[in-house]
Amino acid sequence: MSSRQFFSAAKLLQLIAQHDDLTTIADAVLAAEHELTSRQPTEIRANMAIRLTVMRDAISQSLHNPARTKSTLSGGDAKRMHEHTPEHNFLSPVMHRATQYALAVMETNARMGKIVAAPTAGSAGIVPGGIIALQEEWHMTEDQCVDGLLTSAGIGIIIAHNATFSAAKGGCQAEVGVSTAMCSAALSAMRGLSPERCLNSASLALKNMLGLACDPIAGLVEAPCVKRNAIGVAHAMTSAEMSAAGITSNVPFDEVVEAMNNVAANMHANIRETSKGGLAVTPTGKRITKMIFGKNLGTALAKDTPPTAEPSAQHSCHYSQA
Ligand code: SF4
Repeated sequence: MSSRQFFSAAKLLQLIAQHDDLTTIADAVLAAEHELTSRQPTEIRANMAIRLTVMRDAISQSLHNPARTKSTLSGGDAKRMHEHTPEHNFLSPVMHRATQYALAVMETNARMGKIVAAPTAGSAGIVPGGIIALQEEWHMTEDQCVDGLLTSAGIGIIIAHNATFSAAKGGCQAEVGVSTAMCSAALSAMRGLSPERCLNSASLALKNMLGLACDPIAGLVEAPCVKRNAIGVAHAMTSAEMSAAGITSNVPFDEVVEAMNNVAANMHANIRETSKGGLAVTPTGKRITKMIFGKNLGTALAKDTPPTAEPSAQHSCHYSQA
């Protein structure tokens, strides 16, 4: 039997075209994983369902029990967004919910809570934000959510093999950018779009994230990371909606990933996770950094939100606590 492994979108689509038992990206991911690990598809799916549970817990923790981190850079915004229910809202109900959830997961990460890296801890809010908001607002089944997660994994596999998830190598395009592509494909799959359209939505999402700087203030995975995830999930949804409308990327997914690598090679080290450029070195960024690492830790950042005993997520960008 020929191999079911794929490391490019072209190969993924070829496998789906050649095998009668593969109709979706989720099918192809399951087949590849089964071939690689000998685990049965039911076991793999059950494992994904466990991750969904961890994601829900991460949302719940910060949405229902908000707290500022010790740095005071983040905390409480998921609840704030949840309680923001004006008569006119720029966001649709599903997008509004997704932004709350993305904020919540990232606030939990900033408090060193348990999250699922997707693909990294610094970009952990986007995939769960999109999938779980879609499930709740559009009444999707748990199986559809697992399919979404498997689809996002398929996009991740291709990027992992051809580019990077490392902000130190590729800036935030490699984290939040990749996550928007994974989420966009997942949401497209959950609403029943073809594998081609799922990959197209991933292309649309990733293209618009090329060159995104990694410039965390004080080296903490809080600012701009937390809010960037919330806007990232809205970005993923816009890309998925455009793909559903039949709008196509002029550049196919594999070439967008290649372009991401090219941009990474041209990015200055100052905006690749060193906190030596971008927002980190603005006057405010410097003042905050000095405050956090100086004597007055956490006393002047948020005048109306005193710090709590929650730790901050320094250097947790790439690794999940899950
Ligand atoms: S640490 Fe850098 S790459 Fe990670 S989310 Fe924050 S800005 Fe993006």
